[in-house]
Amino acid sequence: MPLPKFDYLRPQTTEELAATLAEHGADAKLFAGGTDLIVVMRDKLVRPKYVIDIKGIEELRELSWDERRGLTIGAAVTLSELIASEVVRERFGALWKAAGTLADPTIRNRATLVGNICNASPAADTAPALLVLWAEVEIVSANGKRVIPIREFFKGVKRTALEQGEFVRAVRVPNPPEGAKEDYLKWGRTRGEDLAVVGVAGLVANSGKKLVRIALSSVAPTPLIVPEVEGVFKGGGSVEGQIDKAASIVVEKISPISDVRAGKEYRLHMAGVLTKQILKRILGAS
Ligand SMILES: Cc1cc2nc3c(=O)[nH]c(=O)nc-3n(C[C@H](O)[C@H](O)[C@H](O)COP(=O)(O)OP(=O)(O)OC[C@H]3O[C@@H](n4cnc5c(N)ncnc54)[C@H](O)[C@@H]3O)c2cc1C
Repeated sequence: MPLPKFDYLRPQTTEELAATLAEHGADAKLFAGGTDLIVVMRDKLVRPKYVIDIKGIEELRELSWDERRGLTIGAAVTLSELIASEVVRERFGALWKAAGTLADPTIRNRATLVGNICNASPAADTAPALLVLWAEVEIVSANGKRVIPIREFFKGVKRTALEQGEFVRAVRVPNPPEGAKEDYLKWGRTRGEDLAVVGVAGLVANSGKKLVRIALSSVAPTPLIVPEVEGVFKGGGSVEGQIDKAASIVVEKISPISDVRAGKEYRLHMAGVLTKQILKRILGAS
């Protein structure tokens, strides 16, 4: 099916991008990898007058890490580039794993992490990992810059905190606390390429006070973190009992729907199962 007609723009700097969005924001769509955008354009669900290709902007290709600031992932960095990064594999394990479960190598060679969060699908694979890692989103427009926590970025199905004229320059991920363990589990219909029926990321750290974070995708209108889980591990009792309690809290807090991939009841059940599995893994409990 042919795409609707549009003008193709290719700014070379973030300043030029901000100015282009200030002028055409209401009629424009950003194009990073295009793996979400082209699908909805082909299906005529969106008909932008302008498609703004951001892959030529050198500044957005930043993939950097330092001891103090942590990881910076620019908006034009592909998932394949992220997966190939040793620092991501060694220090941001949940994110590395989540990126590797998204689609297949052909898609990952084009798709970006920033495109994954800006698309704001409830099933976005990289979102739970970014949530447990306390990532921040750097947002730029012609009026300046603002930085918000990723947990304030998702506003609904396909809706984000971005205002007209704004774009995401980068996602920043602080270094996890010393000795932290993290992981991501994706449950799908097949072992091959498919969106998650349920995705769960977990992080545990014991630096002074015990931190336990659980975040999920495909179980609510947005990817979400369940902050109540943390309190469970501050109390007494056996680790097994705490894990069971945490899983029942997760099941209480989510609101999955039935769709082509799974029924609501099955998602509720699997969210509990996967939460227990991931907590056992990262807490080292059998
Ligand atoms: C066959 C197939 C399989 C897939 N499998 C998965 C999967 O398993 N898991 C999963 O989570 N996703 C999956 N996806 C969806 C998609 O590949 C991912 O969401 C991908 O990360 C999107 O990145 P992109 O760079 O291609 O985004 P694009 O399509 O370029 O952009 C997505 C949206 O974000 C906006 N946008 C992009 N960059 C910015 C920015 N810097 N600032 C503001 N807005 C921006 C665009 O305008 C568009 O609305 C799949 C897609 C296909 C086609």
